[in-house]
Amino acid sequence: MSALAYLDHNATSPLRPAAFDAVVEALRAGGNPSSVHGAGRKARAIVDKARREVASLVGASITGTIFTSGGTEANNLALAGAGRRRVLVSAIEHDSVRRAVPQAELLRVDGDGVLDLAALERALAASAEPALVSVMLANNETGVLQPIAEVVRLARAAGALVHCDAVQGVGKVPVDFRSLGVDYLSLSAHKLGGPTGAGALIVRNGAPLQPDRRGGGQESNRRAGTENVPGIAGFGAAAGEAATGLDVAALRDRIEFSLVQIAANAKVYGVKVPRVGNTTCISMPGVPAETQVMALDLAGVCISAGAACSSGKVQRSPVLEAMGVPAAEAACATRISLGWNTQAADIERLIAAWQSLYIRVSQSDISHTDSRARAA
Ligand code: PLP
Repeated sequence: MSALAYLDHNATSPLRPAAFDAVVEALRAGGNPSSVHGAGRKARAIVDKARREVASLVGASITGTIFTSGGTEANNLALAGAGRRRVLVSAIEHDSVRRAVPQAELLRVDGDGVLDLAALERALAASAEPALVSVMLANNETGVLQPIAEVVRLARAAGALVHCDAVQGVGKVPVDFRSLGVDYLSLSAHKLGGPTGAGALIVRNGAPLQPDRRGGGQESNRRAGTENVPGIAGFGAAAGEAATGLDVAALRDRIEFSLVQIAANAKVYGVKVPRVGNTTCISMPGVPAETQVMALDLAGVCISAGAACSSGKVQRSPVLEAMGVPAAEAACATRISLGWNTQAADIERLIAAWQSLYIRVSQSDISHTDSRARAA
């Protein structure tokens, strides 16, 4: 059995061996892709190859693929670079969208965590000012897929541009940039088994894009700064492997089936609607998410509190809140996310640890009730 059952791929997926090798090879090669000498040309060739691999993963053009430092930068670049003052975003977007445009109008989601298209239609009709609409492909906490085709149809009819944060969708469901029809698509390497600190913004040919930083003319004048060649190389290698998809839905279903058998009132969020196959957001009734994460960690199982924020503190999940989940229930929700190296044994280890915690907590509840009854 491996040392850990790592089931937190939506936070960061472990580096794939092919990505590791590509990073090391690029580190060894060195060179600046802007230099005209041999070492520079070698670095340029590494970046070009990775660009082909990343573009190919999402059916995008080479010229429309801009490397960034990750999903956060790609989101910020699209949201500022589109040049639209009026921005509409779903209420369940990642902080890198929500905080990038704090003035954005929030679009509600329903109880399953799916964007309310009627609310989008009303918002678009409420003003003649051309807008930018930003809706993610798959939610990071629940895995729920969003109706991007309908978003694009409504937005186009209203003359709006569309950005889609596909960081949690790419590699899990097939994505074709052209048929998706959006203007901007954000990707992140480390959610696919590539290294942290690399990502991309895909831009439709002809869509406006103002660079958000001043400097050199890298990335065809759209993203200044010497390219992170090792990160980009690892991203390309991971993208090449991610193209085969992720076949873990049966393992995810096994988790959900088993945990609900252990605790009949455990709740799975977004279970009734289309989701990516690797994510489950589930509550263990009455047990705070931090307690679950720590207990499972002691048992060698890595999961995350549904509400964990980037500072590592646990806060109320805006996603579950937007879905109308009561605060006390949301505080007991965790996210379990599978990935390219997940094995059946990891799932069994999770189920055993979850069951043992639930039994422990239930028994201590009973003994507390007994002692209170005796004291009364
Ligand atoms: N968008 C979503 C949906 C995410 O889940 C994340 C990371 O968790 C990001 C964007 C940010 O990506 P990165 O960590 O590459 O900046």
